[in-house]
Amino acid sequence: MQLRKIEDLDLTGKKVFLRLDLNVPIKNGKIQDDTRIIEALPTIKYILERTKKLTMASHLGRPKVGGSPADSLEPVGIRLAELLEREIVLFPDYTESSSIQLLNSLGKNQIMLLENLRFHAGEESNDIDFAHHLIDGYDFYINDAFGTCHRAHASVSAAAEVLSGERRAAGYLVQKEIAALSSIIAKPDGPFTVIMGGSKVSDKIYVILNLLNTCNNMLIGGAMAYTFLKYKGVNVGSSRVEADKMALVETIMRNAEARKVQIHLPTDHICAKEFSEASDAVPVSGGIPDGLMGLDIGPATQAAFAKVVRDSKTVLWNGPMGVFEWEKFAAGTMSMAAAMAEVRGKTVVGGGDSVSAMHKSGFADKITHISTGGGASLEFLEGKVLPGLKVLMK
Ligand code: AMP
Repeated sequence: MQLRKIEDLDLTGKKVFLRLDLNVPIKNGKIQDDTRIIEALPTIKYILERTKKLTMASHLGRPKVGGSPADSLEPVGIRLAELLEREIVLFPDYTESSSIQLLNSLGKNQIMLLENLRFHAGEESNDIDFAHHLIDGYDFYINDAFGTCHRAHASVSAAAEVLSGERRAAGYLVQKEIAALSSIIAKPDGPFTVIMGGSKVSDKIYVILNLLNTCNNMLIGGAMAYTFLKYKGVNVGSSRVEADKMALVETIMRNAEARKVQIHLPTDHICAKEFSEASDAVPVSGGIPDGLMGLDIGPATQAAFAKVVRDSKTVLWNGPMGVFEWEKFAAGTMSMAAAMAEVRGKTVVGGGDSVSAMHKSGFADKITHISTGGGASLEFLEGKVLPGLKVLMK
C-alpha cells in the first residue's frame, strides 16, 4: 500500500479542496511562529501553478463550537496573502451556503480559506453531512495536514472518502514526513539511538516498544526516567514517578533485553526542593535523597548520553530531558540538541516539546528532519495506520 501523491493527479483547471495544518500559535492576533504556514507553501504553490480554483481549510486551536474571534484564522489568512501575493478570501459561513458557489465567483488573484473547521461540531465527530458540505462539488481532495492525520475528523477522513480513491492524494509535507519517519522505523543505519524523554512512560509505551524492534540504544531522560530508576530500586526522592506503571517498565526492560537494546538511565541529576522555577538547582550524583526531585539530567549523564548520540548513524529524539522551559533545568535537553547536531548520519526530531527545544537550541538547521506533527508523529512511530493517511492509500 502506497500513498497516492499530489503529482499523480491532473489538477489542471480543476476545483481543489486542500486540508492544511495551519494551527499556529497566535497571541493577541499576532502569529508567534509561522513554521506551519511556511511548510504548507510548496503544496499550495504546486496547485496554483495548475489551477486557480483552490479552497484551503484548517483547524486552529481547540475552540468551543460556534467559535470566537480569538480563534479565527484571519491572521493566518493575512500571512498567507503576504507570502503568496494573492488575496485570501476568508469564508466564515460555509455551512450555510456551499463554498463552491463562492469559489466559482472568485477573481483571478483570489483563493479561499475556510474559517476554523473546529467552529463546527461535525468536524471532530467526523460527521458525514458536514463532510459532504465541505467537499461536494470539488474535483480533488488533497491532504497536507500531517499534524492532524491521526485524527479521524471530517476534513481529514470522511470528506476524503466522499470522493473516489483516485481523486484524493497527499501533499508534499505529508509525503516528506512519511518518508522521514518511515526510514527511521523501517531500515535505520546502525547504531540507531532513540532519545526518549518527557513526562510519562504511559504516554509513550507503544512508541518505545515499537522502536525497541530496530534501535540499538535507548537513552531515557525527563520525568519518565524516574519511574525506570524507581523500578530498579534507586532512590528518586520526590521526583515525579508513575508508581502504578511499574509493570509497563518491566515490559520495556524485558523487551529490551530480548532484543539486545541497551537502555541508558541517568546517573546524576539536577534537582530542586520544589517544582518551581524559583527553586535552586542542586546537583546530585547517584540516588536522590528525600526532599529533592530530579528536574534535569546531570553533567555526567549529559556527557555519557552525548557520546552515545555522537557515535550513532541514526538518532531519533522525542521528549525533553528535563524541565527545559526553566533555564536552570534546560542544560540536559540542550546537550542532546547539540550532540544531535554533530551526528554524521540521519537525525530526526519526532514532534512535540523536543521540536521547540531544538529550535531554542539554535541547532535546528543541522537536523535531517524535524517533524511538524506532535501526536501524529508519535502515533506513526507506534506503527499505527493513521486515519488521515489510510484514505490516501492506493
Ligand atoms: P511530554 O509532553 O510527555 O514530552 O513531556 C514534556 C514535559 O515534561 C515538559 O513540559 C517538561 O517540562 C516535562 N518534564 C521533563 N522532565 C521533567 C522532570 N524531571 N520532572 C517534571 N517534569 C518534567
